Amino acid sequence: MNIANTMPPKQNGEMIRLCHRCQTPLKASMEVEYSRFLNEFYCSFACAVDRYFEYMESTCVDIDNTMPEKTEINNEGFLFVQEVQSDEIKPMNENEFNAIHPIGTPVLYYPIAHTPEYVETVTRSEAWTLESGHVVVKIKGFAGGVSIDHILKISHESEA
Ligand SMILES: [Zn+2]
Repeated sequence: MNIANTMPPKQNGEMIRLCHRCQTPLKASMEVEYSRFLNEFYCSFACAVDRYFEYMESTCVDIDNTMPEKTEINNEGFLFVQEVQSDEIKPMNENEFNAIHPIGTPVLYYPIAHTPEYVETVTRSEAWTLESGHVVVKIKGFAGGVSIDHILKISHESEA
């Protein structure tokens, strides 16, 4: 992309600038445009506009093909489609957790969420919900309840 937009120097060392877009040598007779933002010269208003549109990756909106993600247009207007939360992302409540983690279920406990260190242990209570709304469960080797967000059930199916 970054081409030296000049012709080879003339005998006297003067450089002749080229239009950044079409490489035409720029002359005083042209309607030369300059972009302070890009520090580029163009041979004409049209070349400048083309370059600006290309630079900004601007495209005419085509309803079927080039709509940005989660955007759609119909006769009602221009809509942003709300992202639908999938059940996998939604945190479990205590009932959902207890349904698949009977007491004694082998689990991995991640003391710090989203870090790879874990402890292999088992649940020693059913989960319950704190006043804060956090769902916690007791696990072997730890006092009190720990957040179920830090608990991952050991799945033996995944070893296949
Ligand atoms: Zn040009």
